Amino acid sequence: MSDTIKTSNLSPEFREEIFEQPGTEKITLCFNCTGCSSGCPMAEQEPEFNIRKFLRMANLGMKNELLNSPYLWYCTTCYKCQERCPQGVPNVDALLKIRTIAVHNGIMLPAHKKVGQMVINSGHAVPINDDTKEKRKKLGLDEVPPTVHRFPDALNEVKKLLHIAGFDIIIAKKEEKK
Ligand code: SF4
Ligand code: SF4
Repeated sequence: MSDTIKTSNLSPEFREEIFEQPGTEKITLCFNCTGCSSGCPMAEQEPEFNIRKFLRMANLGMKNELLNSPYLWYCTTCYKCQERCPQGVPNVDALLKIRTIAVHNGIMLPAHKKVGQMVINSGHAVPINDDTKEKRKKLGLDEVPPTVHRFPDALNEVKKLLHIAGFDIIIAKKEEKK
């Protein structure tokens, strides 16, 4: 990410779109105490990931930089930062909203697309396998859970719902750089 900000690259519309998520307008109250970023377990693993910096960028409307940052996907949504913020800034909710905007713009990690395709194909992000079936049996459970695995006809209903939500279109969409 470049440290130079060109005002012509700032998008007030993007900022407003983030603020559609209730409470996220509180990012304007951030006084840069670093409480969120200093306690982030993900930042310990990857110093380039900085939730405080991301929120600052969101407040400035840095759409292109945020949506195309590979670090957008690093947050594990543990919510530690949100719980620590003395200003009540919903850090994670804001980040999730930014991710949602990215996805609606066709920006998704290939791994997430694969999982999305799995949901469309099987109704599960992680379809059951023989090993899991065996473990379920040992625990005294039915071999397959009462999901589309047991009721395959319901998969059509799942597919219908995903289509109504536009999920299949998002998964099929090629990435558009914003
Ligand atoms: S903890 Fe809250 S106030 Fe402090 S830097 Fe993070 S968002 Fe800003
Ligand atoms: S929710 Fe994300 S940004 Fe916040 S502390 Fe956890 S990993 Fe870090």
